[in-house]
Amino acid sequence: SAEISSKDIDQLSKTSFPLCMRHMLEKLRENHHLKNGGRMQFGLFLKGAGLKLEDALAFFRAEFSQKVGSERFDKEYAYSIRHKYGKEGKRTDYTPYSCQKIICSTPGVGDHHGCPYRHFGDENLRAALNNMGISGNALEGILDKVKNRHYQLACTLTFEATHNVSCDTGINHPNQYFSESQKVLQ
Ligand code: SF4
Repeated sequence: SAEISSKDIDQLSKTSFPLCMRHMLEKLRENHHLKNGGRMQFGLFLKGAGLKLEDALAFFRAEFSQKVGSERFDKEYAYSIRHKYGKEGKRTDYTPYSCQKIICSTPGVGDHHGCPYRHFGDENLRAALNNMGISGNALEGILDKVKNRHYQLACTLTFEATHNVSCDTGINHPNQYFSESQKVLQ
């Protein structure tokens, strides 16, 4: 599958990341930190999108070292990133989380993982969708799906509104969202 480079992440986020991952990137850039649930959900997504281990280490080190220092990053965080890539511990090659798993997660205070359609309040969701350039009928259509607890359909409508295509298969995985988007844009 395709590779991505850490220097492309901000641009790819704008064009091709689903809202859950856009949100975590924004929070990582803002706080130079993500709690464990976010590091798992976002880190595995980036791995699935084609970010190689060395690049993942550099990407997270650049942010975390601003908060905790690079020494502490190397001591406390680098291991778990290598672990996600199957280079430590039981050498399990962890797979990125599906929408279903993310929607069922229970982010606590200070967590930024989860599914925005499920876990954001109405105002924050409206603002986030506005930031993606969605308003008017398209926005109301998405919020209507959310009201009826059809979170993946809401995400599918977001994909359609931002890519100007129909997505008949629907969205069931953040990495599927990403690859469908890259297909449309290439
Ligand atoms: Fe992410 Fe899936 Fe929620 Fe979309 S429906 S925001 S891809 S978890």
